[in-house]
Amino acid sequence: MESVKTPVVIVGAGLGGIRVAENLRNGGYDGELILLGAETHPPYDRPPLSKTVLTGDEERVDLKPAEFFDEASIDLRTGARVVAVDPSAHTVTVQRDGGTEQVSYGTLILSTGLVPRRFPGTDDVAGVHVIRTVEDSLALRAAAGSATRAAVIGAGFIGCEVAASLHKLNVPVTLIEPTPSPLSGPLGSRIGEMVTRLHVEAGVDLRVGVGVEEIVAEDGRAVAVVLSDGSRVDADLVVVGIGGVPDLEYLDGSGIALADRSAGGGVACDGVGKTGVDDVYALGDCANWAGHRVEHWTHTVDAAALVASELLGHTIPHQTVPYFWSDQYGLKFQMLGSPQSDDQVHVVDDDGRKFLAYYSRDGVLTGVVGAGRVGKLMKARQFLLTPTPIATLLDA
Ligand SMILES: Cc1cc2nc3c(=O)[nH]c(=O)nc-3n(C[C@H](O)[C@H](O)[C@H](O)COP(=O)(O)OP(=O)(O)OC[C@H]3O[C@@H](n4cnc5c(N)ncnc54)[C@H](O)[C@@H]3O)c2cc1C
Repeated sequence: MESVKTPVVIVGAGLGGIRVAENLRNGGYDGELILLGAETHPPYDRPPLSKTVLTGDEERVDLKPAEFFDEASIDLRTGARVVAVDPSAHTVTVQRDGGTEQVSYGTLILSTGLVPRRFPGTDDVAGVHVIRTVEDSLALRAAAGSATRAAVIGAGFIGCEVAASLHKLNVPVTLIEPTPSPLSGPLGSRIGEMVTRLHVEAGVDLRVGVGVEEIVAEDGRAVAVVLSDGSRVDADLVVVGIGGVPDLEYLDGSGIALADRSAGGGVACDGVGKTGVDDVYALGDCANWAGHRVEHWTHTVDAAALVASELLGHTIPHQTVPYFWSDQYGLKFQMLGSPQSDDQVHVVDDDGRKFLAYYSRDGVLTGVVGAGRVGKLMKARQFLLTPTPIATLLDA
């Protein structure tokens, strides 16, 4: 039984937006479907931006061929930024081509992603970069061509990937991280040490346990970074990789509730993407589903399928296992399940570069993390579908 109200208006022509549109069409929705995107590009993939696009091995990777939109009768409007939502009138206000218009919706789906956090006071400083859009990636690639040294602030997944990509472009890199090791925030110190050795082996100057006090600029250009231990890193290219936040100003005054910052912020939704306001759904990086906001590609893809099935009245079995990957120094890092940094870590395979580790809590498997161990990691997926004692895997 189809319960979707027409027209469907999707705000955000990124991964979540295009996937939910496609799922609605594949599921039989044949009413009007409008996809509004603030960027001037059709939907494209972000993971390559810190990897192959940055290294110049690939250009922008579009998520669909140009003809898809006509064939699927999806009214894609690029350069169209939603600036307000009025649920009582069932309209959104869109800025496009210098003008403003109201677009009516029956069903509204929000998938507006994140904006990167910037280092305070550096918005107009040349040589300071963030990475979220294809323009960001291309600007960073161009800057790398003439850089003497890069300082990458933040050794989370994106900071680590940028460090690895700049290293591949022969730019000397200093990677700065306030926690004791790269990725130790999400994955804990044991795996952090294993990631450390990859960066060190590559010759990256890794500074851990220190923050950044200041980005020093001369004549409007970055020249150095001053760390919290007082040391100075001379760098004419600075990449700020300190995460992103949902930009939800367009929801001000709409009555669509946001989740508390302590829970990750984002649009507050239930476990299938429904907000507290009738006919309004949210998914992807900007959405907080049942108390969690997740910034992973696969999570967005799964969420898009769930929102579409919810709207179409189909029930799809929800048996997904959270999955994330990252590419660094020619190795594929993968994470399955929901490992926590304070879980018990069981390293079951380590050749000094590639590794596989299980995570457990109270004796139950919570996740699997590997580098260069694709087959073995995927074999463990089945054990994350139901609670599995860690002993089962360790004894196998
Ligand atoms: C550099 C980089 C590398 C990544 N690597 C990985 C990886 O290796 N593995 C992994 O699992 N995940 C990775 N991710 C995360 C993954 O790309 C995201 O989880 C995914 O793109 C989320 O999709 P989304 O639809 O929520 O947001 P997005 O894909 O960001 O799309 C949101 C779109 O909404 C538009 N928008 C925003 N506000 C408005 C508005 N008011 N009106 C209209 N349009 C608006 C934006 O311009 C944007 O185009 C990476 C992300 C980045 C940035």
